[in-house]
Amino acid sequence: MGVHRCRRCEADSVIYMRQHRLALCDIHFMEWVEEMTLGFIRKHRMFEPEDRVLVAVSGGKDSLSLWRILLKLGYQADGLYVDLGIDEGGSYSKRSGEHAKKFAGEIPPEAKLHVLDLADIYGKTVPEMASRRKGGRRKLCSVCGLVKRHEMNRAARELGYTVLATGHNLDDEAAVLFGNVLRWEAEYLVRQSPVLPADDIGLVKRAKPLARFYERETAAYAIVGNIDYILDECPFSTGATSLRLKEVLNSMENSSPGTKLSFYFSFLRAKENNIFPGYDRPELSPCEKCGQATGAGGLCAFCRLI
Ligand code: AMP
Ligand code: ZN
Ligand code: ZN
Repeated sequence: MGVHRCRRCEADSVIYMRQHRLALCDIHFMEWVEEMTLGFIRKHRMFEPEDRVLVAVSGGKDSLSLWRILLKLGYQADGLYVDLGIDEGGSYSKRSGEHAKKFAGEIPPEAKLHVLDLADIYGKTVPEMASRRKGGRRKLCSVCGLVKRHEMNRAARELGYTVLATGHNLDDEAAVLFGNVLRWEAEYLVRQSPVLPADDIGLVKRAKPLARFYERETAAYAIVGNIDYILDECPFSTGATSLRLKEVLNSMENSSPGTKLSFYFSFLRAKENNIFPGYDRPELSPCEKCGQATGAGGLCAFCRLI
């Protein structure tokens, strides 16, 4: 990598991003990530400085970097950690929470971390919720996703935040997009977006301000920024379909740098051009118990699970 120099200051110790043909030193890399995030937030009208943003932090590199970046950019951003109780074996949740809390201890005092413990509130951890399901055993990952979405939204609403922000990166978004395209899931494709508006039946606005960054870019940001994040992945994620989709995209990216970014950005452009006319979101009604939107009528999937 000795041939590259920082595009902004000519320093010769750099992070080289093949996918952008861009070399930057540590300081200018961080500056670049922050500028690009600001641009992406504004382009997609994710939030304004007056908004109260709740950042869902898992203790991982993406969400902790996101929280740091939003605070640096001057947004009002608090954190939310959901303790899922995935602790058997390697104390995954416990350790994730420790990383989130440690990070929260080092940020300006006006920002705070909310912690929500499922076992305290519902008497059950995610693995327990998943194992109690009658009928075809739904995979733990889908129960976990359902519970996280519901609880993050509930917390944001009850605590008065106007936007919920998550740390999804480009690798996540491109894999979801790829999966949706393989099955031509039009309803999912119309709704896959870096920003989703609030609806009038209880969903807060959602944003993914890091969706344009490669996973290795968010990892580099966390490392250069000395963020102490949890290195492990969830023990249940191994073998998940999303990992296989990521592998395929990675192999294409290797032979053709930039593939993931252009796949995702050309999708966003196609959506701006309304490639799926006629596909509206399904009719939703409020859940009888919690008030959050459900397509099924009666109870929402979360309240049925609980
Ligand atoms: P994942 O679904 O695990 O890939 O995580 C995607 C995003 O969801 C992360 O970047 C976080 O913003 C958020 N998230 C995941 N797990 C948690 C958690 N336990 N508590 C709060 N936010 C989370
Ligand atoms: Zn530089
Ligand atoms: Zn409900």
